[in-house]
Amino acid sequence: MTFLNVPLADLKAQYASVAVEIEDAIRRVIDSTRFINGPEVTSFEDEFAVAVGAERCVGVASGTGALMLALKACDIGVGDEVIVPSHTFAATAEAVAVLGATPIFVDIEAEGYGMDPDGFSAAITDRTKAVIPVHIYGHPADMTQIGAIASANGIFVIEDAAQAHLAKWDSTHCGSIGDLACFSFFPGKNLGAYGDAGGVTGKSGELINRVRQLRDHGRSSKYVHEIVGYGERLDALQAAILRAKLPHLDEWTKRRNLMADRYRQGLVHLPLELPSTKAGAYHAYHLFVLQTDRRDEFLKALNEKGIGAGIHYPIPLHLQPAFKAQHSPHAALPRVERVAERICSLPLFPEMTEIQQDHVMNSIEEILAGW
Ligand SMILES: *Cc1c(COP(=O)(O)O)cnc(C)c1O
Repeated sequence: MTFLNVPLADLKAQYASVAVEIEDAIRRVIDSTRFINGPEVTSFEDEFAVAVGAERCVGVASGTGALMLALKACDIGVGDEVIVPSHTFAATAEAVAVLGATPIFVDIEAEGYGMDPDGFSAAITDRTKAVIPVHIYGHPADMTQIGAIASANGIFVIEDAAQAHLAKWDSTHCGSIGDLACFSFFPGKNLGAYGDAGGVTGKSGELINRVRQLRDHGRSSKYVHEIVGYGERLDALQAAILRAKLPHLDEWTKRRNLMADRYRQGLVHLPLELPSTKAGAYHAYHLFVLQTDRRDEFLKALNEKGIGAGIHYPIPLHLQPAFKAQHSPHAALPRVERVAERICSLPLFPEMTEIQQDHVMNSIEEILAGW
């Protein structure tokens, strides 16, 4: 058998497909010397808002910064509680904790990997100010149930859409459902910059205006700092690179869905638990995550065959050293704890060839045949 390396994602292959546009964009910024703020940033904000059906977008320095500024715009701080799923990247809870508020972790649903609406409902106290549903792996959280519970309790909904560019829930784009939504343009995300970058989307109005002010030192004009803010601006170079890539995002997302369907067809006969898509959900397939009882062996065998499979995420946040102390030791979250030991993410990126994908599937078949 030939040895073929298949990475989890391939940023070089994507660059090759859009090299001319990217290099033009970079040169344009260098020629203009408008490295901070300016037309590239505002144009990207307008274009991205249109792409995700939001009224406004504010470009920021990272997805983590987006979450922090969104929470801060909702006036969340010391003494407040924010409900987050335990099954997510650390930044979701970190943004809460750095503002002095307390992340309250809840379990995932029985089906899929999204935050459990019943768990959310049960975790609400009179200190709860916001909930952060995460569209994990690109599959939208159940925004119907979560939104209804939040509005009945007067709680802000801040979407973590870092993995869900162009995903939809009931025909509505993730990023245009909650009070505010946070995107990451980390290089490996579905829309990736060449460094750190992020964005906050929302309706026009006070909340998004506060995000805009907070990202740039609380300025109301060049020399007037009306509130204490942050240095969390989006670089013009990153904005220009994102603008070059954005026109391709729809086609890339469709391609991710095609590859996911191909995985599903090719693996359905094997004793693996494949990811499902809920009725009403359009999946952005940031990751294709399956489950197996013998995950550690499975992952090691794939890695030995040159396949860049990974785990997202092996340690639930309520068990992480950074957050354990804040979490009630009595509150076990059995579903996320079980899933964390069983999940494995397969390579999936728009430029992946069928030959590469067949190699992944044949390798899986070989591994399972040996068990
Ligand atoms: C990537 C990610 C973030 C953080 O984004 P950065 O741009 O890396 O700061 C937050 N939440 C989730 C779910 C993510 O996947």
